[in-house]
Amino acid sequence: MTVQALEKHTPMMQQYLKLKAQHPEELLFYRMGDFYELFYDDAKRASQLLDISLTKRGSSNGEPIPMAGVPYHAVEGYLAKLVQLGEPVAICEQIGDPATSKGPVERQVVRIVTPGTVSDEALLSERVDNLVAAIIADDTGFGFATLDITSGRFVLSEPQTLEQMQAELQRTQPAELLYPEDFAYSDLLSVSKGARRRPIWEFDLDTARSQLTAQFGTRDLIGFGVEDCARGLSAAGCLLQYAKDTQRTALPHIRAIIKEQQDSAVVLDAATRRNLEITQNLAGGHDNTLADVLDRTTTPMGSRLLKRWLHQPLRDRSVLNQRLDAIETLLDTGLYSDLAAELKPVGDIERVLARLAMRSARPRDMARLRTALAQLPAIQSQLSELNHSAFAHYAKATQPMPELTDLLTRAIVDNPPVVIRDGGVIAPGYHAELDEWRELSDGASRYLEELEQRERDKYGIDTLKVGYNQVHGFYIQISRAQSDRVPAHYIRRQTLKNAERYIIAELKEHEDKVLSSKSTALALEKRLWEELFDLLLPHLAQLQGAAEALSALDVLCNLAERADTLNYHRPKLSDQAGVEIEAGRHPVVEQVMTDPFIPNPISLRPERRMLIITGPNMGGKSTYMRQTALIALLAHIGAYVPADSAVIGPVDRIFTRIGASDDLASGRSTFMVEMTETANILHNATAHSLVLMDEIGRGTSTYDGLSLAWASAEWLAEKIQAMTLFATHYFELTELPGQMDGLVNVHLDAVEHGDEIAFMHAVQEGAASKSYGLAVAGLAGVPKPVIRRAKHKLAQLEQSGQQKVTGDTSHNQAVPTQLPLLPEPSELDQAVDALNPDEMTPRQALDALYALKALQQSR
Ligand code: ADP
Repeated sequence: MTVQALEKHTPMMQQYLKLKAQHPEELLFYRMGDFYELFYDDAKRASQLLDISLTKRGSSNGEPIPMAGVPYHAVEGYLAKLVQLGEPVAICEQIGDPATSKGPVERQVVRIVTPGTVSDEALLSERVDNLVAAIIADDTGFGFATLDITSGRFVLSEPQTLEQMQAELQRTQPAELLYPEDFAYSDLLSVSKGARRRPIWEFDLDTARSQLTAQFGTRDLIGFGVEDCARGLSAAGCLLQYAKDTQRTALPHIRAIIKEQQDSAVVLDAATRRNLEITQNLAGGHDNTLADVLDRTTTPMGSRLLKRWLHQPLRDRSVLNQRLDAIETLLDTGLYSDLAAELKPVGDIERVLARLAMRSARPRDMARLRTALAQLPAIQSQLSELNHSAFAHYAKATQPMPELTDLLTRAIVDNPPVVIRDGGVIAPGYHAELDEWRELSDGASRYLEELEQRERDKYGIDTLKVGYNQVHGFYIQISRAQSDRVPAHYIRRQTLKNAERYIIAELKEHEDKVLSSKSTALALEKRLWEELFDLLLPHLAQLQGAAEALSALDVLCNLAERADTLNYHRPKLSDQAGVEIEAGRHPVVEQVMTDPFIPNPISLRPERRMLIITGPNMGGKSTYMRQTALIALLAHIGAYVPADSAVIGPVDRIFTRIGASDDLASGRSTFMVEMTETANILHNATAHSLVLMDEIGRGTSTYDGLSLAWASAEWLAEKIQAMTLFATHYFELTELPGQMDGLVNVHLDAVEHGDEIAFMHAVQEGAASKSYGLAVAGLAGVPKPVIRRAKHKLAQLEQSGQQKVTGDTSHNQAVPTQLPLLPEPSELDQAVDALNPDEMTPRQALDALYALKALQQSR
């Protein structure tokens, strides 16, 4: 807008338009008295998004101004909704004093609320991490950084391939994702509702370095091991700047940046994370996920940590064994429930500390911190009772901090109000001057009693009393009978029937003091409140360390409790390749089932590295494969597993190609999705990978599909030598073990009783004997005539298939194990077969027709 155009507006609108020009992308919440108002397009947009009415506010520059507003005391609800929708909001407050301002009160944007950078309790989900991320790409790969502003966790990584980048996004699920204008991989951005374009220069590497060193107070970044991560640093620099821009305050809780090491984690690609339903089920919800079964943590920060662990399985056996030792000790001593009970009151101090660092903590945050600190001695004594080196680090990090506990106990009242605005937060006895002002403002000052006594004695007037009323303020009252003794400096104020009321200079002074004392007390209280931050902030690092340790203890107690309740056992982490599980179970399926779950063993080792799994649909193949992956995953977060015993060798990655779902949003058919996932596995799996292949080749013609499945299995077994579970409905594949070393057939069995089929869910060695597809279709309610027709067709197909195979001499040692399934002819069929129309008289034909009709009706 030009200067002339601006000048045509009212002074207030001029101020608004200037502020709005600095925040074109955000909805500008412009504070006016008790409301936040939005104008012009912002107003229209907000009225739609928030379902609030759109009105007009006078006119400016000759045009009516569209306006929408929300009351300031209800703003959090509206902000929460906008954050959910991924909309950023700039909050503009009145800074100047309306009484002394000429023209509109000075206003400033004090913070920007964005989905990835919110820290207000009301705007966050308790048990889910809330991240803001930045991404860039160049010819050599990607740079990615994430920041959790509610904990200060700041992490960068440099995924080399698109597939790794997708996996990172899938894992971190950022609420907001910053990308440079020239970013070429627009598909990646769909992961986040809050994808935000930023100018390229915000990703400048030199700026990033100086931003980061300034933030951490270091000369360089060598100590963080990220010195050479040009791409990661560029992303991190942009991210830090964005965090500062939105928060408009120091962020002392962001004190380091960590590099995510790809080779220290068991890599899970995006599809695998989805397929294994770790924290989200395939429908996008949270029910019946691994986290749903495992999460009984007592603090929200513990819950978030558990989910991070689940998404980031580790390969370092010493860390894992330490966690397992800790769980074992908690179980052996039975102390996990006692410790969990002590941890519960600790609550979410991780987020409390972030708000403390940003000086946005509320009075109740301080009270929570006090409660948390008060738990430390009890936690210490529990840890010393556990007396195991696995807890040494946690014990050190959770040393009691008596000075801080004492400070907060003295400083903050027991049940503080929500906000500091009206005072009543700082406890009596904490600050003598505050107590005095408060006493004064309450009017119940000892001073008045003393004055009364003094004046009485001095002038010998025993009826002298000090009083107060709304109209006249403080006064000295003397009975009419004694009014002749009143000294000269007493000034009469009021005459009553039997008494006179006076004022003296000293009392007037006191009165002024009382009146101003309320505001003085409040101002002092606010100052003391701010000082409290200054007193606490030097301990921020120690407090954050304690929060981290307490979260980990919460997770460990939780895993011990789950192990005990759900009958999990300690896995043995071996350096020998392979997976040996006795009586393994699927942690989620066993919970949702009413029937008992049938445990199954598995044995994978180099000489038995691929299992070809056959069996009827619904037989339990997917369950069996997934439970193996989940047990391996749980072992790699250092948790007990749902099995009687498990020995798990090194696993570098877990791959899954399970289930088929059309990825319609990105325009990919089931088959395309399936092949993309297969390609990824065939390219990236190694001999240490655990690969789950379920029913590949389904989405195309039988021969295409079979050939693809065959070739993929061969490649995995021979070239890659990965530990593979290969479930298939192509019985032809059961020949592979006869042709190649390292492959074994196993199957899930079922038994048929007439038209019924019973699934045994028990894994047996060898290939399944037949397909049962028709029996399952019958079970699913496919109409009987269709099933009968299918049986006929199957018999035909199998006969011709048999002829083909037996006619082919190169195949004769590999006759399919699939037995022909001959249909039982029904009575009706038999009756029809018995008829020979050419030899029948019309009368016989009519009788036969009646007989057939009767037969049909009798069924
Ligand atoms: P498939 O992949 O062979 O079609 P699923 O693994 O999807 O079969 O299993 C089908 C259903 O069978 C599961 O939803 C579960 O209810 C049941 N099931 C699977 N495995 C077991 C088991 N080991 N014990 C008991 N029930 C099982």
